Amino acid sequence: MNIHEYQAKELLARFGVPVPAGHAAMSVEEAVAAAGQLPGPLYVVKAQIHAGGRGKGRFKELGAEAKGGVRLANSPEEVRAHAAEMLGNTLVTIQTGPQGKQVNRLYVTDGVDIAREFYLALLVDRKTGRIAFVASTEGGMNIEDVAHETPEKIRTFTVDPATGFMPHHGRAVASALRLEGDLAKQAQKIAARLYEAFVGTDASQIEVNPLAVTDDGRLLVLDAKVGFDSNAEFRHPDLESLRDESEEDPMELEASRHDLAYIKLDGNIGCMVNGAGLAMATMDIIKLNGAFPANFLDVGGGASKEKVTSAFKIILSDPAVKGILVNIFGGIMRCDIIAEGIVAAAREVELNVPLVVRLEGTNVEEGKAILADSGLAIVPADDLGDAARKIVAQVKQPG
Ligand code: GDP
Ligand code: MG
Repeated sequence: MNIHEYQAKELLARFGVPVPAGHAAMSVEEAVAAAGQLPGPLYVVKAQIHAGGRGKGRFKELGAEAKGGVRLANSPEEVRAHAAEMLGNTLVTIQTGPQGKQVNRLYVTDGVDIAREFYLALLVDRKTGRIAFVASTEGGMNIEDVAHETPEKIRTFTVDPATGFMPHHGRAVASALRLEGDLAKQAQKIAARLYEAFVGTDASQIEVNPLAVTDDGRLLVLDAKVGFDSNAEFRHPDLESLRDESEEDPMELEASRHDLAYIKLDGNIGCMVNGAGLAMATMDIIKLNGAFPANFLDVGGGASKEKVTSAFKIILSDPAVKGILVNIFGGIMRCDIIAEGIVAAAREVELNVPLVVRLEGTNVEEGKAILADSGLAIVPADDLGDAARKIVAQVKQPG
């Protein structure tokens, strides 16, 4: 689960991480009122979407000369003008894809004078199974270019979970950022607090970019992106309120409500499979036959008819889907249950794409009979290869 920048900063501030003062706003009036509560004379108006690259982003509805999703303002009246231009419009950044994201919330913060911009992130390094610090002196809006062109300017080190964060980790961060004296001390403290926040919230990432040095010698978190490990969500019921469902993929959201492992992909063949391994194999074999899966979907081992029905509806609600491949190996899962779910869903939602079904395992004959008696145009398949060839041929048919 990801959260907005303003939520991330409020959360980090609770762990003692220094952030500029700011207030979230859902309307132009709220944005102006937020500015009124800040000291001025400089304000920053920031679009709150679950994507980075906002500063360099562009609004779809505005001309190319219009400013992006992070704007400086010198008065509450300028804040008003920016807020009016940004709210309700669609911001396109390198992370949103060409369709962009609608801006429904703003964050109005105290503007600071920046001397230098650093990059500092914490994430889970899967290779070592440890929390890693990633630090670079070359922070700011071009960090992607730094990663491509001068990767040596990005330093990484991990923390041994047996010791946890130690003073030498803080010194390593300060040294990676080439800081000395008081700024080095501030960096050590921030590194320690970010680590505490990471572990304390079961985060999967905390990315600070920029970590800024201000003209008056302070180190401040100016932008933060925080994501949490969904497997640990049950340990943090308080974080659930930070969820903004309007930022999530509607199909993935619907799937999570039914406890289905669903991931939207770019192809046009919808897949419903039981078991993650079989689901991966199904996607592979679709690709092997020259087409692309529209989703990953594992209905799980002991799914009910209702669960199968919702899974089917989610697949069908994707306008990109031009055909569906159901591949079930009934072990714990019974084939007749799957068949009932398919028939129920196909009757509820108008099934207007070809459907290939491969059933094998427990109660397979009963399952096949239910499908055959349903009157639906279902193409049966004998095995995985046969199923993939059939659905790809159906989808590729002209007209
Ligand atoms: P992102 O583009 O989505 O990563 O948004 P950021 O919050 O990182 O903002 C983009 C850039 O705006 C930063 O890299 C800074 O250069 C600039 N910026 C953000 N806050 C301030 C501020 O308080 N003062 C000044 N002068 N610039 C800021
Ligand atoms: Mg940033």
